[in-house]
Amino acid sequence: MGTSHVIIGDGIAGSSAAETVREADPDADITVITDEGEPLYNRILIKEFAKGKMPPGPISIHDEDWYTDRDVDLQLNTHVTRIDTDAHEIHTHRGDTIEYDTLLIATGGTPTQLPVPGSDARGIHHFWTFEDARAIKEHAERAETGAVIGAGLLGIDLAAICGAQDVRAHYLMRGNAWWRYALSEEGAGIIHEALRENDVTPVFGSGVDRFEVDDRGRVTGVVDPNGERFDADFVGVAIGLNYNTEFLQGSGIERTENGSVVTDEHMRTNVADVYAAGDLTYFYDVLIEEMAQNGAWGSAKEQGSIAGANMVHDQRGDGEEATFEWVSSYSITHFDFPFLSFGHPTIGDDSVERKYSDTEWRRVAIKDGRVVGGVLIGDLAPQSKLKRLARDRVDVSDTKELLLEETIDLENFEAPEASS
Ligand SMILES: Cc1cc2nc3c(=O)[nH]c(=O)nc-3n(C[C@H](O)[C@H](O)[C@H](O)COP(=O)(O)OP(=O)(O)OC[C@H]3O[C@@H](n4cnc5c(N)ncnc54)[C@H](O)[C@@H]3O)c2cc1C
Repeated sequence: MGTSHVIIGDGIAGSSAAETVREADPDADITVITDEGEPLYNRILIKEFAKGKMPPGPISIHDEDWYTDRDVDLQLNTHVTRIDTDAHEIHTHRGDTIEYDTLLIATGGTPTQLPVPGSDARGIHHFWTFEDARAIKEHAERAETGAVIGAGLLGIDLAAICGAQDVRAHYLMRGNAWWRYALSEEGAGIIHEALRENDVTPVFGSGVDRFEVDDRGRVTGVVDPNGERFDADFVGVAIGLNYNTEFLQGSGIERTENGSVVTDEHMRTNVADVYAAGDLTYFYDVLIEEMAQNGAWGSAKEQGSIAGANMVHDQRGDGEEATFEWVSSYSITHFDFPFLSFGHPTIGDDSVERKYSDTEWRRVAIKDGRVVGGVLIGDLAPQSKLKRLARDRVDVSDTKELLLEETIDLENFEAPEASS
């Protein structure tokens, strides 16, 4: 029998870990457990399906044969309820016990519900799974009025679905701008205008006080904290994630207050032989030299791969350990212009920004004189150079205005620090 690697979660983090483990250790026993009913699919694309712009076929990434061909034991519809790190075993809702030599927690998150009256009414959608996308699509196709809550990257997907499905919607935001932690009002203004062009009306200084619900339990409207009422037979809520880590209670694995799993830059938790990867990690980011969290596909994939490599490495005790060193990015393709955020655009002690045209804008976030993230609207060409400056931890304290040149010239920046 080979080493037993058990992976909880078949999202991109779990799945890429399985792939890496198999490549590194042809003899290993690999088990992947997911409570979803289908193997890995492209979560990024389910919004295009819900918009009615893409058939379901291409959204699937792996079919069950992919696991069989790699001799990976895939257990669908299986919820892990508890783990015992002393005994090195996990327990499932079916009453099964599975032993592991190494264990990966890659269970991601579940959308948070609004804690207001009526929030469990029918017609109020949260968006995470393909199942959710099917329900959203089916409902949006026949809905006439909508409301979207959550002024972030997932909220805007729901707003774009309303736009694409001809649902006349209000986008209720608490602050004065969409994603106000990463964009200034000027940058967000470009997004607001694009939303209006899609028949989605941004409403600022708003939010939800309560949902109105009819006798059949269906949502009919939203009342905001100012007492204003908006008709809505379709509602989309995207106010954040609850990390799926309740089953770790009592395991000794360190979690933060919001339930994220704490890891180092090698995706190891504080408990021997247990690793974590993907959205749920609160990891040490070697590039910004502090603990951080990502919520992006590419980052989850890379973390899964790093975890998988170290699960094999640590068992064998040879070779070099793998380190997560990554500038993540997240793009949006809902409008006539492209949009991309990279790194950690919401942190930093300084920033520079410029508007180039009605649909072109750039903001670069800086911390301790180094690029840590940013947002590009309209022209994404500078992304690779900006990410390179972030990755190489180049000091831009005296050259920060040059980050806004239409074409960035890397020659203008100091040579990178010797890599850490
Ligand atoms: C609609 C939508 C659009 C997005 N668009 C983008 C985008 O454009 N760009 C981008 O970079 N990112 C995007 N993301 C974010 C990206 O999809 C996530 O960052 C990524 O999927 C996280 O992967 P993960 O493997 O960490 O977690 P997940 O994909 O959440 O996978 C975790 C899996 O674990 C399962 N699970 C949970 N608990 C248990 C348990 N106890 N037992 C068994 N299984 C369990 C879950 O059901 C799930 O299948 C989007 C997300 C959504 C929902």
